[in-house]
Amino acid sequence: MALPVAEWRGRAARLWAALDPALRERLAAASLHDAVRLGCDLLRTEEEAALAQLCHRAATDKKPEAASWYREQGNREFKRGRYQAALRLYSKVCLEDIARAESHGYPDRLLPKVLLRKAECLLCLGRLQDAQDILRVLESKIALDGVMTTHLTRLKKLSQLKVKLGEKERCPEPAQEARGGIQGEPEIWEENSRISGASSSLGLGFDAERGRHLVASQDIVPGQSLVKEEAFVSVLCPGESLPLQDGDTAWDTGATNADLYCHRCLRQLLASVPCQGCSYAKYCSQDCADMAWQQYHRTECSLGALLLTLGVFCHVALRTVLLAGFAEVSRLVAWSHRGDKSLQNPEASCKPLSEAADAGAGSRGVPGCDSSGRYQSSYQALFHLLPHTEQHSPEHKFLCTLSVVAVCKQLQAAGLEAAVLSQESPQQQPKPKTCESTSDGLSPELKTVAEAMLRHVLQLQCNAQAITVMQELGPGDGAVVDKKPVRLATAFFPVLSLLNHSCCPNTSVSFSGTAATVRASQPISSGQEVLHCYGPHWCRMRVAERQQLLSQYFFECRCPACLEELESGVKSVVSIRNSFCCPKCQAQMQGEEDILCCSNEACATSTSRDHLSGRLQDLQQQIKKALSLLRVGKADQAIKMLLKCQMDAGTFLSPEHLLMGEMEDHLAQVYATLGKWQEAARHLKKSIEIVEMHHGPSSVETGHELFKLAQILFNGFAVSEALSTIQRAEGILSVHFGPQNAQIQELQEMKACLSELPRNILQRT
Ligand SMILES: [Zn+2]
Ligand SMILES: [Zn+2]
Ligand SMILES: [Zn+2]
Ligand SMILES: [Zn+2]
Repeated sequence: MALPVAEWRGRAARLWAALDPALRERLAAASLHDAVRLGCDLLRTEEEAALAQLCHRAATDKKPEAASWYREQGNREFKRGRYQAALRLYSKVCLEDIARAESHGYPDRLLPKVLLRKAECLLCLGRLQDAQDILRVLESKIALDGVMTTHLTRLKKLSQLKVKLGEKERCPEPAQEARGGIQGEPEIWEENSRISGASSSLGLGFDAERGRHLVASQDIVPGQSLVKEEAFVSVLCPGESLPLQDGDTAWDTGATNADLYCHRCLRQLLASVPCQGCSYAKYCSQDCADMAWQQYHRTECSLGALLLTLGVFCHVALRTVLLAGFAEVSRLVAWSHRGDKSLQNPEASCKPLSEAADAGAGSRGVPGCDSSGRYQSSYQALFHLLPHTEQHSPEHKFLCTLSVVAVCKQLQAAGLEAAVLSQESPQQQPKPKTCESTSDGLSPELKTVAEAMLRHVLQLQCNAQAITVMQELGPGDGAVVDKKPVRLATAFFPVLSLLNHSCCPNTSVSFSGTAATVRASQPISSGQEVLHCYGPHWCRMRVAERQQLLSQYFFECRCPACLEELESGVKSVVSIRNSFCCPKCQAQMQGEEDILCCSNEACATSTSRDHLSGRLQDLQQQIKKALSLLRVGKADQAIKMLLKCQMDAGTFLSPEHLLMGEMEDHLAQVYATLGKWQEAARHLKKSIEIVEMHHGPSSVETGHELFKLAQILFNGFAVSEALSTIQRAEGILSVHFGPQNAQIQELQEMKACLSELPRNILQRT
């Protein structure tokens, strides 16, 4: 995803291996500037042809996926009148959904959801009368079926939509995002005067060991916002299809990120505005489409297949340069050359800029600051992120060089150079440059662009920030919403990049569109460094795996968790909790070798590790099968199968094994789809115990489980328990995501709904 496709990587590797050793050495030691010059010569016509071939495949691969969704024909209609077209499109989808639901013989389960979605869509499109009609149909359907067979979640949604409809009818035009009387506590936020987007309770530190880093300048409480930053650049990861499975509604199948989220702002698409020139860019609105076109897409539009083939990092690098503008790019590239020379050292260019000359640094000498000493979320700050030029392997640098040169050659060949270099208004079409596509050389300006792009691609290895969203999983009947974080885009956040890594971080990061918010996840006292986990968290993997993953960042983690596990030889909690137990006496199995022995001396059973690992794999297969049964509506069989898996697991997995928790979670899910709320709650509580043991009682993971439990109790009318669970979930999730988070709002709506319950329910039963 991040890197070019395997075939192109392989080709670059073969080319590298065939190079003259002297040339390899030269390339390995080359500055970015020289690497680009050499790369221009080394990207020969045959490589370009091979790349073009690969691009062709990427372009054709996209089509079948596209067909499964609602877009192709609807998209064409969009171009004329977008709301009518959108509506037609949505109606079509809904009709298909309804037909499909009926053909499966369980319309009752899906129809209300489909109708609710259609009403919501109509509401968003301003078709109030139609929305009202749908809501009326839905209400009568619910009245007919009786309240107990439907979900309280749905009733709540229905009443929310009615409130929204009422609001829209009263003040039709600027659709207010009024949240029906739910008050999010205003967050205390004072921006730092020296670091844009950072809280005033932080300070910027800089030393040789830690580089730039953020430190608490006063005591910080959990949940406090520390950084709020808009991505400098972000690129939607297009090809990843969602972890949603078949058997769900047509709404959800076969969709990729590119179908579901705005290409520019990453908001969820209700009705998309496609680019007129390509099939991969879709936007939430005409405004987003226009803005993207003006800022970068007029250059990127025809390069879609090439950018897909070369990977997201290349795409981010190109977009970064386009957003920064050529003037700024060439200024900083030229400045970096001055830095090279001032050190009079042929390898100086490989040194991070922070250690080079201070020409571009701020008054206080912290790299990336502007002339007034302020660190801004700007291209200058981004340019100063460390490219670690000398630490990447020479082959990797070679691959990146060839790739960015290929992009720039393509820009030149497609007559897009003027668009890249100029600040023309978007209305003016870039003038096609008269240059033969056969000329191998890049213009000096495009060489500068390539050099900046190469820097950015190398920087991304350490500084790419994944933008994740919580995406709905599981059967789409809407009663209990299970959400998991999914990678949506890759971005540069210059301020967020100031945070160093720890496997036991004291912050939590969440995203809304392209904006990131960092919050304290625990108390941080004045003077302590503010730390963020880049991925390998101590709860999720052992120290060896973590260190392996962190090697891509070119450092060895020495956080307290790593030090403890490495130095004192303490066994990681992960390995203790996820251990096997003795098939005979259920005591823990021990040993680091191939043969594991029972820790109970009296028992003395021993088994091979491979045997137990094999059983674990079989078990995971069985669980998968059970889940696929659930998805095709065979809930009873799914339960039988899961219970059997549980029995089996009990004979060789420790009771705290994460998989034990996952099975409980799945059982809860199946019972919830059957409306057996008490059973569901019982299983989910066991899952929560295990999750708490692994991730801690105030972790995001525990928060999500409690959120599910709240929904189950809510649907099961377990009022007082639901209320206390809502409160706990709210407490945990608001620390990680803040009071405006959708899940928090949902919890508050449940609370509000429960307080109105007697009237709501007693009328109907
Ligand atoms: Zn948008
Ligand atoms: Zn396009
Ligand atoms: Zn660590
Ligand atoms: Zn034993």
